[in-house]
Amino acid sequence: MDYTIEAYNELVEKLLALSVAYYDNDAPLVSDFEYDRMNNELKRMEAAHPEWVRPDSPTQHVGGHVSEAFAPVEHEVPLESLQDVFSFEEVAGFVERMDASVSQPHDYVAEPKIDGLSVAVEYRDGRFYRGATRGNGQVGEDVTENLRTIRSLPKALINAPARIIVRGEVYMSHDTFNTLNARNEMEGLPLLANPRNAAAGSLRQKDPAVCAQRMLDVIFFNIQLAEGVTYTNHFETLEAMAAMGLPVVAHTLCKTPKDCTDAIAAIGEGREGYPFDIDGAVIKLNDLSQRTALGSTAKYPRWAVAYKYPPEKKPSRVVDILIQVGRTGVLTPKAVIEPIRLAGTTVTNATLHNQDFIDDLGVNVGDTVLVQKAGEIIPEVLEVVKKDSQGAFQFPTVCPACGAPVVRDEDGAAIRCTGAECPAQRLRNIVHFASKEAMDIDGLGPAVVESLDKAGLIHTPAELYSLDAQSVATAERMGKKSAENLIANLQDSKSRGLARLLCAFGIRQVGSKAAKVLARHFATLDELMNATEEQLTAIDDVGPITAKYVVDWFDSPQSLHQIRLLREAGVSFESREEIADDRFAGKTFVLTGALEKYTRQQAEEIIERFGGKASGSVSKKTSYVLAGADPGSKLTKAEALGVPIITEADFARMIE
Ligand code: NAD
Repeated sequence: MDYTIEAYNELVEKLLALSVAYYDNDAPLVSDFEYDRMNNELKRMEAAHPEWVRPDSPTQHVGGHVSEAFAPVEHEVPLESLQDVFSFEEVAGFVERMDASVSQPHDYVAEPKIDGLSVAVEYRDGRFYRGATRGNGQVGEDVTENLRTIRSLPKALINAPARIIVRGEVYMSHDTFNTLNARNEMEGLPLLANPRNAAAGSLRQKDPAVCAQRMLDVIFFNIQLAEGVTYTNHFETLEAMAAMGLPVVAHTLCKTPKDCTDAIAAIGEGREGYPFDIDGAVIKLNDLSQRTALGSTAKYPRWAVAYKYPPEKKPSRVVDILIQVGRTGVLTPKAVIEPIRLAGTTVTNATLHNQDFIDDLGVNVGDTVLVQKAGEIIPEVLEVVKKDSQGAFQFPTVCPACGAPVVRDEDGAAIRCTGAECPAQRLRNIVHFASKEAMDIDGLGPAVVESLDKAGLIHTPAELYSLDAQSVATAERMGKKSAENLIANLQDSKSRGLARLLCAFGIRQVGSKAAKVLARHFATLDELMNATEEQLTAIDDVGPITAKYVVDWFDSPQSLHQIRLLREAGVSFESREEIADDRFAGKTFVLTGALEKYTRQQAEEIIERFGGKASGSVSKKTSYVLAGADPGSKLTKAEALGVPIITEADFARMIE
């Protein structure tokens, strides 16, 4: 795999930004599955290029920062992360590594991995003393007063060592999450997205009274430090914590690799039964002295792995199917479903991709479908599990955003709106209209179009010509001077001629090349508008599909409205493409160096007008290299390949 350092740096930056949203703001921007996928890609890049590894890479440190809103607490024993695995083969690989590194007999403990917020809680003389978040693993945030509000956190322990620090996970139970969300819904407040972030956000509240209302819970899975007591294995520490009165994570002793995978499967099958979300199962080496001997990397212990379950799937009923129109005019169907909880979030709709997908599934409103949340944060419908409706959903024949007819791509499954004024596509249509190959309006790139749109100044391409400098100057990022320049450039663009205008319309299959072909055959736009499909198909290089698209486009009321506005604005509908002969048919020209009489673009247009092609690189197939002043390496290459080289004077004679 070829990686570039730019791609590496970009991925590090992206993951760091996602980590801030997740750990510091408790508001993730993508699903954990998606985050893990990107993080794994980063690990592969770093394995291939260890020399690139940045110290701030998310693979090199525990995620999260310490907020200044809380007093810092230095962890005497670091709160590490866990190494992820995604398959039973990788679990077997972990066991093999343990077998190779530990000579004495060894066994493992399997536990569910609770999806909450990690905390270290200290008891002194059997009494709750202090608690801190994981923070960056070395230093956490003092959340003692918030922890005190958690009912399941014992404020006193039974027969505890004089000083003990235990590590656990603070979570919001499913019941609490549902109760709070039902209340929020009734009061018209925003809903909590998922229990993990709700728990993290609540524990990091400044006001303990607010935290208390969130009814958090805690469960423990490790003794970090116990003064005056020596334990030999992890299983024993879990039992000891339970005996002290601490709520402790379920734990299974595993002697063989099969025991480990069986325990993982059992935890996965029982995940609905836990009062909290789990995002995996943890396999830990049991013997504590063996653990110490193995030690840790910068981020996680070598003696444990977290198995992450594949994306969760659940059934739900389709209550509606809505069609969204994207910026490219593609209609995308989405199923509105009865709310379900999937991979830590409440899911109320799922994508159905396109009509073919719907037909394959035979899905319609009323059916029960299986929904999965995987690579993308948008969940998708996988299959129909119970059919309660008639037939499959049928796409509308007109665009739900503008009412124009829709057409299916001749070479794909996408169904598109044909509306020249469709509000869903307006930005893209305007950017295309102004682009280099179309009306070539200088200073009207995507950012400016967006500013003009935000200011409410344009809704369709033709409206560009009714702009005035004064109103343009009010748009974001536009000054007086740039507004005046834009108006002047718009004025200039009015005389670009028919070929560019046709390209600017964005008719399907009519790019700049087809637009030139059409403009060569019709002297004006009005002539072209009167042409029938047969007349169009009779033209070389115009196929029946293109002909139909052209005729349909000119039939549409939205298109006719655009044409009327352009006519009123004084945009030229005349063809400037002279009808030339095909003396260069089958010939390819490559241009190098500066020409005196023509710009490169003009020379290329002449070549095309005579049926030839202009290309950017010299090969054996090149017919001529047209060399101007200061020719570049293309000339040397042409000499080496024996390609005929012509001067500007030769070219002038050829086109006489
Ligand atoms: P982690 O959360 O995957 O694993 C370590 C944590 O597991 C520990 O902090 C510990 O508190 C917890 N844990 C729960 N039960 C445990 C048990 N029985 N034994 C031991 N530990 C247990 O690791 P991480 O590095 O903190 O975070 C990575 C996770 O955070 C990934 O799942 C990732 O997807 C998610 N994340 C998501 C985003 C996002 O944008 N969605 C961003 C950053 C991180």
